[in-house]
Amino acid sequence: MQSIFDYDKQSLIDYFLSIGEKKFKAEQVYSWIYEKRVFNFDDMTNLSLDLRDKLKSTFDISLLEIVRKQESDDTNKYLFKLSDGNFIEAVLMKHDYGNSVCVSSQVGCNMGCAFCESGRLKKVRDLLPGEIVRQILMIEDDYKNRISSVVVMGIGEPFDNYDNVMRFIRIINDPKGIAIGARHITVSTSGLVPKIYEYADEGIQTNLAVSLHAPNNELRSKIMNVNKAYNIDLLIKAVKDYIDKTNRRVTIEYLLLKDVNDTSECAQELADLLKGLNVYVNLIPYNETSHIEFKKSTKENIMNFYDILKKNKINVTIRREFGGDIDAACGQLRASEVERWNHFILQTQER
Ligand code: SAH
Ligand code: SF4
Repeated sequence: MQSIFDYDKQSLIDYFLSIGEKKFKAEQVYSWIYEKRVFNFDDMTNLSLDLRDKLKSTFDISLLEIVRKQESDDTNKYLFKLSDGNFIEAVLMKHDYGNSVCVSSQVGCNMGCAFCESGRLKKVRDLLPGEIVRQILMIEDDYKNRISSVVVMGIGEPFDNYDNVMRFIRIINDPKGIAIGARHITVSTSGLVPKIYEYADEGIQTNLAVSLHAPNNELRSKIMNVNKAYNIDLLIKAVKDYIDKTNRRVTIEYLLLKDVNDTSECAQELADLLKGLNVYVNLIPYNETSHIEFKKSTKENIMNFYDILKKNKINVTIRREFGGDIDAACGQLRASEVERWNHFILQTQER
């Protein structure tokens, strides 16, 4: 059975029309779910009993299971179990100006970045649109507060699951739905160049973030396999074309790895690469993980890197660290859960 959460409003209307129902009935169902947060067809009292029965036998309306939750002052981290038993995670970040959620787009990731937990475990499958939507519904329900912005920066490469991610965006952006403004939605890619062009053509006001992490091809190819397919020249050209087309500023993410990409030379090279582009750089302190040997840059190196970019008139911020104490880095919670399971399976097999 297909999940009702996979449907954007238009596709739900199309389905209703195809079974001889009126358009406004589909809108009522959409409003029950996204405005009233009723997740049970029986309670949708303005629909006929017949229609409710029909919907029950056509759509799955179940939510996700929260298997683990780690909470700190500024962050809640959720581990969800999907209906097929796979795990994904999402992070709620509490700011003074509102709450943002970082959602996963795939189970694992095939891009294989050397520093990343999600890449270490490889992609199992793409997430369906409704599985991404439900991460937000579950968190709003649990936290009892509205989410004001969303970043697609959890597990997975969103542009490797492009259509489902775009449908997810349409659902959460719908003013009659969760109603998160396009300007408050950001998609982060490791640099799938053709998809950056496709995204530029969508005609929506959502944001783009690009994980650059190195200022030259030699270094980038060492830590990000994707650079072997789409090198820095192609990537920067795509970013420039995206800005020209959409008139929107792009975020460049730069993860600082100790003694790898955090030197003064790297900072200067990055400044030269980005000069004149309408971008802002977000420096990300690395969240160390137990399986990967990379280390976090020292405070001095982070500040030095920041100063060099500033001196070169590049817009730059240092990302506030969220939930370092609670495995909040991309993929860490899922990785530890998968490991627990593998360990458990191994033990039962040995018996
Ligand atoms: N696949 C997309 C989005 C998910 S990763 C992408 O790569 O952009 C989101 C961000 O988290 C990326 O910039 C990624 O490089 C970064 N990241 C991965 N592992 C991290 C870690 N251990 N600490 C801090 N950031 C990490
Ligand atoms: Fe995938 Fe992004 Fe992790 Fe790279 S950093 S492996 S693209 S999730």
